[in-house]
Amino acid sequence: MTSRHVDVLVVGAGPAGLAAASLLATAGARVEVLEREQAPGGVPRHCAHRGFGNRPRTLTGPAYARLLADAAVHAGAVLRTGVTALDWAGPRALTTVGPRGVRTLAARAVVLATGARERPRAARLVPGTRPAGVYTTGELQQAVHLYGQHIGTRAVIVGAEDVSHAAAGTVRAAGAEVVALVTELPRAPAAPARTLTARLRHRTPVLTGTTVTELLGRGRLSGVRVRHRDGRTAILPCDTVVFTGDFVADHELARRGGLALDEGTRGPAVDGALRTSRPGVFAVGSVLHAVESAATAAREGAHAANAVRDWLTDGAGPDPSDRTEPAWPGGVPLVAEPPLLRIAPNRVTPADRFPYLLRTAVPLPRPVLYVTQDGRPLHRERFRLTPAVPHRPLTLTARWTHRVDPDGGPVRVTVA
Ligand SMILES: Cc1cc2nc3c(=O)[nH]c(=O)nc-3n(C[C@H](O)[C@H](O)[C@H](O)COP(=O)(O)OP(=O)(O)OC[C@H]3O[C@@H](n4cnc5c(N)ncnc54)[C@H](O)[C@@H]3O)c2cc1C
Repeated sequence: MTSRHVDVLVVGAGPAGLAAASLLATAGARVEVLEREQAPGGVPRHCAHRGFGNRPRTLTGPAYARLLADAAVHAGAVLRTGVTALDWAGPRALTTVGPRGVRTLAARAVVLATGARERPRAARLVPGTRPAGVYTTGELQQAVHLYGQHIGTRAVIVGAEDVSHAAAGTVRAAGAEVVALVTELPRAPAAPARTLTARLRHRTPVLTGTTVTELLGRGRLSGVRVRHRDGRTAILPCDTVVFTGDFVADHELARRGGLALDEGTRGPAVDGALRTSRPGVFAVGSVLHAVESAATAAREGAHAANAVRDWLTDGAGPDPSDRTEPAWPGGVPLVAEPPLLRIAPNRVTPADRFPYLLRTAVPLPRPVLYVTQDGRPLHRERFRLTPAVPHRPLTLTARWTHRVDPDGGPVRVTVA
């Protein structure tokens, strides 16, 4: 087992990790990016559709992935693909496994950009047999776009949000028919234009208030049993089913390292500089809050790069691995109260200026967010034009953070 030292180790070559790596390498740091897949780019690499990057000139996923990876290499970052970070070998050192065997890599700073994963059928407790033809969105996209595999002829998509429509597009691209998109929600959660296009242009039913209760078939899937909100049941014949959109932060490394996790996001808890509970370890992208847009992930990567640079400058020695500073100097927990589901970042210091992303469990037509600490009002933010809906983020500005008492109790965000 050999050991090496770099300035910054980035785990995960998706949009978040690549954006951080580009800026840090441009600033002169020795940066290595570890990626367990055979090519860099993260999720966009196997999303053939457009919609990545900043509007209106969005790119296809693979083009966007290439752009970010090329920028990181051009800036001087070293991308190591086929290399998985397995565990921690010190406060900022990781054990990795790749084509050259098991290694230890120590760094002055570590950026966790490990993304999110979809909960498979078993975790969603859908009973039935265990036939072939059952996918998550990621598995479907890899099968079709990376490996050119045959996926079946008639697919039911479980979910009706943006990611579900992307999965439906992949099914059609593979030459199969989309039988229906099925959601338990009373209204279709994707943008209305998207749902309309599915219904009118593709003639695909979007079944709301409908639950997939059982998978049928032996050997190969033969259908799914569904229950409508009025109690009626039906069988949708199909040979493929795709479970979409139920993402959880890929927090395995953070958990193994004993980093504090946030209860709402289940990713590593971070303050507004995207610092985790361990000094010199940062987290960016979907690992913080599960899936938002790729541009959001890249923005977080770029934002964290500033804090990493400060950390490298303050830790003047060649390897500040023995520094034992208190975590989150001055930070207090930031908690989203129901019906809000989660908020990220989820620690707050008076110096923080980075906006906060929230999700709600229920639709709220004209939400007003209230921020308080120990009963003291800190801020109120109205959303006159933007309704809050599940499956879309709500952004809270950081205009109020200077009012936070760093010695006070948790800061709470409620909605009315
Ligand atoms: C089906 C689908 C469609 C989407 N469509 C759009 C869209 O149209 N527009 C848009 O803006 N966004 C879209 N998104 C969201 C977008 O893909 C994500 O926001 C973005 O990929 C998040 O970037 P990330 O870097 O945080 O994570 P990821 O892209 O998930 O990258 C994380 C990387 O870390 C690697 N990794 C994880 N653990 C380890 C480890 N231990 N060692 C080494 N490597 C590791 C993974 O292999 C992966 O490559 C879509 C997402 C999905 C799932």
